[in-house]
Amino acid sequence: MNSADIEKIVKQIIGEMQGSGTASAPAKASGAIPKTARVAMLTSLEHFDVKEFPIPQLGDDDILVKVEGCGVCGTDAHEFKRDPFSLIPVALGHEGTGEIVAMGKNVKVDSAGKPLNIGDKVVTCMIFKDNPDITMYDLNKQNVGGADVYGLLPDDDIHLNGWFSDYLFVRGGSTIFNVSDLDLDSRILIEPAAVLVHAVERAKTTGILRFNSRVAVQGCGPIGLLCIAVLRTMGIENIVAVDGNEQRLAFAKEMGAEKSVNFKDHQGIEALTGAVENAFGGHLADFAFQCTGSPVAHANIYKFIRNGGGLCELGFFINGGDATINPHFDICSKEITTVGSWVYTLRDYATTFDFLKRAKAIGLPVQKLITHRFPLDQINEALKTNLAMQGLKIAIVNQ
Ligand SMILES: [Zn+2]
Repeated sequence: MNSADIEKIVKQIIGEMQGSGTASAPAKASGAIPKTARVAMLTSLEHFDVKEFPIPQLGDDDILVKVEGCGVCGTDAHEFKRDPFSLIPVALGHEGTGEIVAMGKNVKVDSAGKPLNIGDKVVTCMIFKDNPDITMYDLNKQNVGGADVYGLLPDDDIHLNGWFSDYLFVRGGSTIFNVSDLDLDSRILIEPAAVLVHAVERAKTTGILRFNSRVAVQGCGPIGLLCIAVLRTMGIENIVAVDGNEQRLAFAKEMGAEKSVNFKDHQGIEALTGAVENAFGGHLADFAFQCTGSPVAHANIYKFIRNGGGLCELGFFINGGDATINPHFDICSKEITTVGSWVYTLRDYATTFDFLKRAKAIGLPVQKLITHRFPLDQINEALKTNLAMQGLKIAIVNQ
């Protein structure tokens, strides 16, 4: 038993003492919990108001989390600009993490069965009030797209529903994970990283992705960069990154890509395919990940893949329009196996915690993905920075 284990046990005992002191009153942290919390509410298009709401009384299954930080997602930017989900007024922010400061007496373990105590660092995943089967963490192979999530809920009388806030009110029936063993930046990156852990799991179902595979990753935004990192933690090293931005391609190499191809340096798909082939030493890719939302990029990527190779399309998180391909040349005659990937399963979410630890252990600069940090009261600037496509991952960090 090392000192970290001992520390954990002591923390657990102290937490239990705090948690079971009285029969019905919710457990209280030693630090005082304020009566109100600030919540960034999107009240009109492109405008958040930071509002103050009372912190409600906790029920026996509820958890109060003091927010430490939350990443800004493309979905947030989308809602900020156009309100496609018709949610205004809404408390956004779903890539958040924080510390448990109070919890109801029934709360003992997280969704993976790990003990939960005051002071633990946590993330939420989905809320499954309509589908109890999906809470079966061990058995769940279903992609959780479409489930409710904090940060995209209709406003109600609790209001503390999104991670762009001081406190999040986690209701019983929500998935929550104890991630106390991850640093703050890693915890902010869990949600986007889970998308890639899932995509790589989908890719593995083709049976084509193997140890020495040549893999092309097209698109070097946060998603493509995380894709490269996940592949590296799996031992795949022969990776060629494709993008039109030199800075992102340089980062792709730091993240573990062996070679990079700037599509702007090559006129036409034949020249571009030639460049990808050269980067693999005269071979086409065994497997490719399409990580952009561009229909042209989707159409192009088939050309980079060898006969009998595989493709994982994960760039179209939202409808980006139709792509034109030639089914004969691109799929049939080459016998390409394709998989689509969207969101993640609960199992992938938990696997992501291990991915982040392993990425750090092998020296991948995953934390460098967070290029901008804003305090809560500058949330409008944070969203505008995201919309201006500056930097990679923008985060709201409290304190
Ligand atoms: Zn997200």
